[in-house]
Amino acid sequence: MIPIIIIGTGLAGYGVARELRKNGYADDLVLITGDDGQFYSKPMLSGALGKGQSAESLASASVDKMASDLEAKVLIHRKVSDINTKGHTITVNGEIFSYSKLVLAVGSSPIRLPLKGDGAGEVLTVNNLEDYARFRERLANAKRVGVIGPGLIGSEFANDMLGAGHHVELIGPDKWPISTLLPEKAGRALQKNLSDCGAIWHLETFNGAIEKSGASYRTELQNGETVEVDLFLSAVGVRPEVALAKEAGIEVNRGIVTDERLLTSAPDVYALGDCAEVVGRNLPYVAPLMIAVKALGKTLSGTPTTVVYPHMPVIIKTTLHPIVTLPPSPGIKGEWRVEGGTDGVAGRFISPDGIMSGFCLTGNRISEKGAMIKEMPAI
Ligand SMILES: Cc1cc2nc3c(=O)[nH]c(=O)nc-3n(C[C@H](O)[C@H](O)[C@H](O)COP(=O)(O)OP(=O)(O)OC[C@H]3O[C@@H](n4cnc5c(N)ncnc54)[C@H](O)[C@@H]3O)c2cc1C
Repeated sequence: MIPIIIIGTGLAGYGVARELRKNGYADDLVLITGDDGQFYSKPMLSGALGKGQSAESLASASVDKMASDLEAKVLIHRKVSDINTKGHTITVNGEIFSYSKLVLAVGSSPIRLPLKGDGAGEVLTVNNLEDYARFRERLANAKRVGVIGPGLIGSEFANDMLGAGHHVELIGPDKWPISTLLPEKAGRALQKNLSDCGAIWHLETFNGAIEKSGASYRTELQNGETVEVDLFLSAVGVRPEVALAKEAGIEVNRGIVTDERLLTSAPDVYALGDCAEVVGRNLPYVAPLMIAVKALGKTLSGTPTTVVYPHMPVIIKTTLHPIVTLPPSPGIKGEWRVEGGTDGVAGRFISPDGIMSGFCLTGNRISEKGAMIKEMPAI
């Protein structure tokens, strides 16, 4: 029997495998991954230091356990190098595998800024368990940490490191923290609360050079200040992994382009999770991924199912000032109307025709999430 092959064992890849079995798919199933195939929840990577968790303790199931639970073959430490969409085959380390259906769940990679300076090569990024293990090891000798990128993930790591007793400085060109997802007043509330816990923010200033300075690292900012720390972490966003699909002639844009059933431009090839752009939207978050996992599990088990997204607020794990935000879709016109102060804000994004098309809540206002979702127009 020719198997369904899933490339990737993150939340998307393992999620689809689980749904397939739940929906009664009884034929052969193969998962292939470039990593070690342990199961873990990636969002935990930016909230684990304060809890003293090691990479080993974040992995909740071994690859053998996953393979046995899923009654699947899981091939680890193997990179798929080629997809032949006409022949329905893939190439892995020179070996050719046939698929009946192929699922691309290849995730995204951290964006690497073209940093200058002799310390640039030692700046860390954290996007998987292996990265987290390295980060934690380096932190053992690093009291002062510089975070490049005061966005969602940078702010979460800063929050976590403050909780673990580190001195944290955040740097970036942004006007306020998490500026792509939050109105200014919400970002400023986060800034103030993290500052109260020791964070130092250097906003609207970064010249992109990291120099070594003895055992530490330094960067001269555009405003003339110097930041000197023991370790730099870069968290400037992620980019969908599209190279494999692109080389196979599958249509890609920002992500791998799919229709509402997650089918790519190639027959029998599907994509979901961080790598996918589903009907024009690349949403690198868990909530949309889980909706896609359920839909694809049904489709591949014989019940064609469309992805329908409900309102999906993003929960930002800055525990020192928690945030829930549902930013308006790109291109929607309107303005943020925000009330509250540094203890917490509630913001509504209102279009010129008076329709609410997004919201955000921070600090002591996050309990209003249910009410805010009710205020949003039905989908
Ligand atoms: C630090 C951090 C914190 C986050 N916090 C949140 C949060 O609080 N809330 C939220 O909603 N989202 C959060 N996210 C985003 C969320 O974790 C991701 O959207 C989600 O985990 C993506 O899962 P995925 O399965 O699509 O990709 P990944 O987990 O990246 O899995 C990709 C898989 O593909 C494999 N692969 C790639 N290329 C190949 C190849 N050529 N051959 C074989 N295998 C290949 C990899 O080895 C891996 O197994 C966070 C992300 C990070 C990095």
